[in-house]
Amino acid sequence: MDPYDQFAQWVSLLREDEAFDAEVDRLGAEAIAELRRIHAEDGLLFGDDLRRRLLALRFAHAERALRLVLSDFPAAVAWDIAPTVSMGEPAREGVVVHGWEVFGIGFQDTLVEIAVNIQADYIDEFFHVWPLCPGHRLGLKPDMRNGVGVWMCGSGPHEVARIGKTEGSRRR
Ligand SMILES: [Zn+2]
Repeated sequence: MDPYDQFAQWVSLLREDEAFDAEVDRLGAEAIAELRRIHAEDGLLFGDDLRRRLLALRFAHAERALRLVLSDFPAAVAWDIAPTVSMGEPAREGVVVHGWEVFGIGFQDTLVEIAVNIQADYIDEFFHVWPLCPGHRLGLKPDMRNGVGVWMCGSGPHEVARIGKTEGSRRR
C-alpha cells in the first residue's frame, strides 16, 4: 500500500479513537506533520500507545513553549507563581501548565494556547495586561498568523512580535 494512503487511513481512524482528543478535521499543517512523524516512527498507533505518544509530544512542546512565553513577561521575581509543566494524575492524564490543560499537537498551537493562559493568569494576578504594543501602549493578544504564534495589537490590527521575541524579552 502507498505509504500516504496508509497515513490518511490512520488519521481517519483517529476520529473513532478516544485516546485522540483533537478534532481530525481541524488539524493544522504542523499538527499533520507531527502525526506524519509519529506514523513514520511508530506505525499505526491507537489507544493507550497513541495516548502515551501524544502526551510525550505535548510535554516536550509545553516545556519549550512555556519558556518562550515566560520570556515575554516581566522577570520571574515579580511573580509569586512558578508555572511548571507536569503530567496530570492518572485519573486525569494530561499535560498541565500552571493549572491549564494543554491540547495542542503542533508546537505553535501549544505556544499560542500557553500564551493565552499565562497572560490570563498574569492579568488576574497583577491587574494589568502584558505584553504591550510599543507603538500604541495597548495590550497584545496571542494569535496564530501564517502558522506561527505571534502577539497581535488590536490597533490596525498589526503583528508586534513572535511569541518569545518581544522587545525586552528575557529569552534564555
Ligand atoms: Zn500597536
